Amino acid sequence: MSQFKVAIVGAGPAGYFAAQALQNSQTDDMKFEIDMLERLPTPWGLVRTGVAPDHPKIKTVAKVFEKVAAEPGFRLFGNVELGTDVTIEQLRDIYDVVILATGSALGRKLGIPGEDLYGSISAADFVPWYNGHPDFTSLEVPLDGEVAVVIGAGNVAMDCARILAINPEELDTTDTANHALAALHKSAIRTVHIAARRGAEHAAFTAPELRDLPKLEHTDVFLRADDVAAAQARAESAGEIEKELRSNLEAMKLIAETTPAGRDRSLHLNFLLAPKEIVGKDRVEGITFSINRMDGDKVIDTGETHTISCSLVISAIGYHALPLAGVPENSGKVKNADGRVDGNLYVVGWAKRGPSGVIGTNKSDAADVVKLAIEDLGTPKGKGSIDDILPAGHQIISQEKWSRINAAEVAAGEVLGKPRLKEVERSKLITLGQE
Ligand code: NAP
Repeated sequence: MSQFKVAIVGAGPAGYFAAQALQNSQTDDMKFEIDMLERLPTPWGLVRTGVAPDHPKIKTVAKVFEKVAAEPGFRLFGNVELGTDVTIEQLRDIYDVVILATGSALGRKLGIPGEDLYGSISAADFVPWYNGHPDFTSLEVPLDGEVAVVIGAGNVAMDCARILAINPEELDTTDTANHALAALHKSAIRTVHIAARRGAEHAAFTAPELRDLPKLEHTDVFLRADDVAAAQARAESAGEIEKELRSNLEAMKLIAETTPAGRDRSLHLNFLLAPKEIVGKDRVEGITFSINRMDGDKVIDTGETHTISCSLVISAIGYHALPLAGVPENSGKVKNADGRVDGNLYVVGWAKRGPSGVIGTNKSDAADVVKLAIEDLGTPKGKGSIDDILPAGHQIISQEKWSRINAAEVAAGEVLGKPRLKEVERSKLITLGQE
């Protein structure tokens, strides 16, 4: 029987699905010992720090992750960072296979004037702020103005816009980080605009997220019926409309047809607005867009502009991977061929294919890469152990310690009617793990 040692770097969905695929591939002749490394003291990646708190159903996938973690041969090494605590070269020596599942942590830049003004924030910072990621607790999010603009037509833009536009009381029973919840309760924002640079037929929102919008209890959602009709006409003239787009257009039509209830909170979906400049002296005072028009599939700048006065701009226009020492990079991803990087190094998830797909997409993606890694396996060659590299006294968050943190957070949330009360300070998380 051959026993192979595998390191998975990153305890997000892609990492857990890779571990699951390895576990499912075991035979009487081939077993895997899996060490999962995670820089934070808490695992679950975007399920903890990305998924919107008002979408708790999506987070139930964490049960699958915990099942994977409970399997024999699985060890969690939380609070262990690649590049700081261990190097990629060390991992490649110790393990037979190293799988990177490090995601895409950095927000893409708009590259327009005014982007660095106070009040212009990337969704890559705003989302972890409201989700209690320890590195983003001190982010300054000016919520003192009445209007906010979110750039992008994807589900992240939708999450950001919804969090800003709903009545914060709707978040009281969620696991929104306490600091964010307190700030949102004081927020003066009442109007939120989403700005998409192309027509509605090209929006990257998905239908379930769009269908949720008319159900918001305290927020009117506006979308011009003309925008949907024009998008539908353009899509039809290009040929048969695919199922997903049809579903999206139907969901948008429903929003356009919903009569506003005259609530003081509103969310507006705008199309054909390309960000040109964020304006303001010392802080964001507005954003100017080039008005586009569609010519078939082509986007044409009409030369006209439109300015929205606002005090907060969130750009949600995609992500790229954090560069890792000793790992080749290409266009914001780890350079790879179907998940193979080189030698015994592999990559899965967003770090492999870029920031696309829903959480479940990572399951088949990871299984495909694990299949290749298994095909490449020779005989076990890994030497030594990660325990010998980490300095004595390094606070490793093992699965047992994480279970204590998890239980403590759930218990603290229970008395408040929340699924959990997140601890957001690294040192306190580490202490919770010891208790
Ligand atoms: P996304 O779906 O790729 O959307 C990015 C948006 O940014 C697109 O509309 C894109 O427009 C726009 N954009 C890019 N560059 C721009 C620029 N310079 N100016 C203006 N707009 C620009 O990315 P995402 O929203 O970050 O989401 C990432 C993935 O996570 C997606 O697969 C998403 O579905 C998933 N996700 C899912 C959920 C959920 O299931 N509830 C929640 C959050 C995220 P163009 O198309 O014109 O380039």
